[in-house]
Amino acid sequence: MGIERGEAFVLRVRDFAESDLIVTLFFEEWGKRTAIAKGARRFKSRLGGVFDLLNQVEVVFYAKAQLDLISQGALISEYPRLKGSMDTALRALSVGKLLDRLLPSHQREQAPYTIFVQFLDLLEEGTPRWEQTAVAAMLKIVSVLGHRPQFTACVRCGSTRGPFHFVPARGGVVCTKCEQRGSDISRGLALSLNALIDRPLTRAGIVRMTKEDLSLARELVDLYVRELIGIPRSVQ
Ligand SMILES: [Zn+2]
Repeated sequence: MGIERGEAFVLRVRDFAESDLIVTLFFEEWGKRTAIAKGARRFKSRLGGVFDLLNQVEVVFYAKAQLDLISQGALISEYPRLKGSMDTALRALSVGKLLDRLLPSHQREQAPYTIFVQFLDLLEEGTPRWEQTAVAAMLKIVSVLGHRPQFTACVRCGSTRGPFHFVPARGGVVCTKCEQRGSDISRGLALSLNALIDRPLTRAGIVRMTKEDLSLARELVDLYVRELIGIPRSVQ
């Protein structure tokens, strides 16, 4: 690779030196790459505001083994509606962070890229039941990256008869005969979560879930993601 041009999402931004930025970008074509944008924090920089989190950008860069060098950057979309609400912005940021932590560097990853674009577009369009869509996006992303949680049978004995607990460290549900610890999960909720993984993201809102189930689903998926990306649970 020498000089390249491509579209990407901004997953992470850090200040560097006096006026530079180090940005982690998720390209459709090249996967996750980290690049330096020299002078991007200068008052009159043409790169000012381009590399805000979750922006979709077009960049021209010199590809290097470790840190690419950005020579030009332009904003494609900054998702103003999504970012205008604290709730949707935080949820989208947590999906971005998940990608940042799970994606391997310098490896094309088409499936999670497609899910991420769809997810941001749905939030930007103001899709109804967006919280359910966010849970689905997270589950689908971990699944296509090889960490699909097992919801349909006990991960230890294979039994499909409950009652079940959800045990993030085991990667799915465990029947109460095999293990006593874990978060309670009903058979219905486990099957709904399984359906969210398999359905197209645009139809995530159709899976029927009660308010209580949705709130528990969010909690369980957060626990699972924390387990995957290695953030310890707070001491209780
Ligand atoms: Zn079991």
